Amino acid sequence: DGKHYMFMVRSRIPGGRLTAQQVLTELDLCEEFGNGTLRITDRQGFQLHGVLKKDLRSAIKGINDAKLTTLGACGDVNRNVMCCPAPYKNNKVHQEMQDLANRLANHLRPRTSAYYEIWLKPQDGEEQDAEKVHEYLCTVPTGPEHVDEEPIYGKVYLPRKFKIGISLPEDSCIDVYAQDLGFLAVVENDQIIGYNILVGGSMGMTPANKKTFPAVAKRMAFCTPDQVIQVAEAIVKVQRDNGNREDRKQARMKYLVAAKGVEWFRKQTELYCGFPLADLHPTDVTGCDDHIGWHEQGDGKLFLGINVDNGRLKDEGDLRLKTGLRAVLRKYGMDCRNTALQGFILCDIDPSEKENINRMLAEHGIRSAEEWSIPRRLSIACPAYPTCGLAVTEAERAMPSVMDAIENVLAQNDLLGDRIAVHMTGCPNGCARPYSPDVGLVGKARNKYTIYLGGNTNCTRIGFLWQDMVPQEEIATRLAPIFSRYRNERQAGECFGDFCHRLGKEGLASA
Ligand code: SF4
Repeated sequence: DGKHYMFMVRSRIPGGRLTAQQVLTELDLCEEFGNGTLRITDRQGFQLHGVLKKDLRSAIKGINDAKLTTLGACGDVNRNVMCCPAPYKNNKVHQEMQDLANRLANHLRPRTSAYYEIWLKPQDGEEQDAEKVHEYLCTVPTGPEHVDEEPIYGKVYLPRKFKIGISLPEDSCIDVYAQDLGFLAVVENDQIIGYNILVGGSMGMTPANKKTFPAVAKRMAFCTPDQVIQVAEAIVKVQRDNGNREDRKQARMKYLVAAKGVEWFRKQTELYCGFPLADLHPTDVTGCDDHIGWHEQGDGKLFLGINVDNGRLKDEGDLRLKTGLRAVLRKYGMDCRNTALQGFILCDIDPSEKENINRMLAEHGIRSAEEWSIPRRLSIACPAYPTCGLAVTEAERAMPSVMDAIENVLAQNDLLGDRIAVHMTGCPNGCARPYSPDVGLVGKARNKYTIYLGGNTNCTRIGFLWQDMVPQEEIATRLAPIFSRYRNERQAGECFGDFCHRLGKEGLASA
């Protein structure tokens, strides 16, 4: 009928871990089959946008050829497992967490052979490259053998998508409380002695449906490192068998946790596990690190976190992110990581190369950590228009000018160095986790936003609705008096989110 259907293709990348070759392949694919840009998602994955239907198979096959996969990046299954991406070497805690992210992703992957059949299997006339087929079967665990029933997901999969994150108390950069299932590492004497289990976080809501709400996860119990996989599988099964399958808007696990209570949920988890869970350890989230800038990684090498405005890798004007990263990756071939704040980490850099890499990046207009304000580094936005079919207004495309205006107001109040996180989405589904940072901007109608305040940078609390239907160009001016009051009235050590939380909506209204 002449229509050209267009798709988004998302890669699942546990903990955001990538080789240079994988990044270079994704950059090539975005040019060959996408809209020429590659997007780092706020779940540490990659998205290709604008892939035409006729190119879907080639794009997906290209991703699999690079030993990445799109299987489990979408759908009513466990999605990409998030984990702190900081590449600290000789650090057992970080390595164990990243290893756990891989093991969870592998354990909870769908076993369907359909993925292989549709996207990877050689088609009529195509040469069967035995080595390549073997690679697919080993690296993308989807065999050509027919699977009658998924061992974990059963015949009907989950009622809704499912998200897992692993974090440290002092660095919840992956927003562990925003996950359906969060594992918060408890560390003693440089050893992970176990994990606090957090259940039922999720950001989405539908304003017209009063039964929907965003939620941070609830603290449930504690498990030892050797129990984690069984606990995760048990929790997935509790949701599989008890989650709401009649009303999709009530299908996320948070509604089950809210309806039945944490104690019920814990007992069910223990039943499916076959062993009792220990009570919670008092450990809780105390901080988060965006990993931007130069850091020692613990083995004599350095890593460099690069802030990418809204995760969009593109060449535009003087800022040539794609070309600059390509040049560095081709020259050095280092491993990379995607961060949960849509940033990008270059690993394993010899200190003697630091200045050269700084120069190469600067030549491509890529700013250093010091050239960004802290709020800008902590800001993220979802794609919204023109690629998301659910968007009601702009997010990613509007965010740079919204942040310019917010930065102006912050500068007037001497707050540019403060940790103030702003997350923006183009609809209430909340893909950029907008209900729990210091400032949440949620698209409500064309060019109109709901402003949430009173969350925090660590995203451990849901903010309150402060103002509704605010025109985009008024966001910064509406926030200006609140920033000014914060500067004048804050208590010692009080961050912006805590200040708004303490005063509440009424307190902020009284000037
Ligand atoms: Fe699309 Fe809404 Fe998600 Fe943004 S928050 S990507 S507009 S569904």
